[in-house]
Amino acid sequence: MSKRDYYEILEVERTATDQQIKSSYRRLAMKYHPDRNPGSADAEEAFKEAAEAYAILCDKEKRALYDRYGHAGVSGAGAGGFDPNAFAGFEDIFGNLGDLFGFGDMFGGRRRRGGPQRGSDLRYDLEISFEESYAGTETAIQIPREETCDTCHGSGAAAGSAPEACPQCKGTGQLRFQQGFLMVARPCSTCRGTGKIISHPCQACRGAGRVGRERKITAKIPAGIATGQRLRLYGEGEHGSAGGPPGDLYVVVHVQEHPFFHREADDLYCELPVTFPVLALGGDVRVPLVDGQEELKIPGGTQAGARFKLRGKGMPNVSGRGHGDLYVITRVAVPKKLSKDQKRLLEELAKTMPQEAVEPAAGEGGEKPFFEKVKDIFG
Ligand SMILES: [Zn+2]
Ligand SMILES: [Zn+2]
Repeated sequence: MSKRDYYEILEVERTATDQQIKSSYRRLAMKYHPDRNPGSADAEEAFKEAAEAYAILCDKEKRALYDRYGHAGVSGAGAGGFDPNAFAGFEDIFGNLGDLFGFGDMFGGRRRRGGPQRGSDLRYDLEISFEESYAGTETAIQIPREETCDTCHGSGAAAGSAPEACPQCKGTGQLRFQQGFLMVARPCSTCRGTGKIISHPCQACRGAGRVGRERKITAKIPAGIATGQRLRLYGEGEHGSAGGPPGDLYVVVHVQEHPFFHREADDLYCELPVTFPVLALGGDVRVPLVDGQEELKIPGGTQAGARFKLRGKGMPNVSGRGHGDLYVITRVAVPKKLSKDQKRLLEELAKTMPQEAVEPAAGEGGEKPFFEKVKDIFG
């Protein structure tokens, strides 16, 4: 009997991508798995055949040899019969399916169970104000997390008793049985794979060994922290099981937007409305800072969109490397209401400045949104 073409077996084109080959194999492996076809020799044969074809086609070099020389090119390269070791690298393609079918064991790999396990990491999303991110803050957060039960110290057994080995699986947590040519292992249903039976469960945790608790943790938020940055609080995650270490708590920071300041790295930008007379004649204006204010000298003839830098008045650097700068960008403050006098004076002024004599100022952004304008300026 001549061997079937590997591509035909896997039901893919010769030009199939690795991904297509993988997913087709996955589908066939599920279809023909001995667990789904108890006692069927045909299914077993198809399952082996698909595994053999996949072992060649998933390997770049072997696939190239096969494409060139056919079966002759890859005989002795793991082909020519079912080799259970060929499965060794396949666990990834099965993922949870592997667990479902007990592939972990079939591959000769031992699945973790019962031993010490590190607790899960937790994530906490913390929103703080712009001012808090500027100054730094200390905040108490409530974390619901699983902790080791104090009453039974995590064993789940009531005082004076201890968990016993499961009689069904003899404490291994798995039941193995021969199916066709495979040795299949399944988690024991009596003990749910733990290998232990608790006949007198602890009252406090109902035998779980863990209890849900709200824990108050004080988190120190350093000055200068920005949205998306996270703090890692070591050991503040969920408790581990069977003596495993606890996980960590990640506090992910979200900083509220500020109505006046915009942050880029450690620098701040703000748009400052200045009256036309001050822009034209020059003068002192007051610039608000995140924590105070500062005088700024505007020279005569300043255009709207002009940029002034106040060194060191930006955000503090979160790693303690000083402060960023504050960039003040001027905008013309146009009064919505004018007094009679102001109106008359402006009309007088307007007569001296006919529109056609006004040169458009370079760099003026007109109707562009402020921060686009800033981007234009800074690239
Ligand atoms: Zn307990
Ligand atoms: Zn058991």
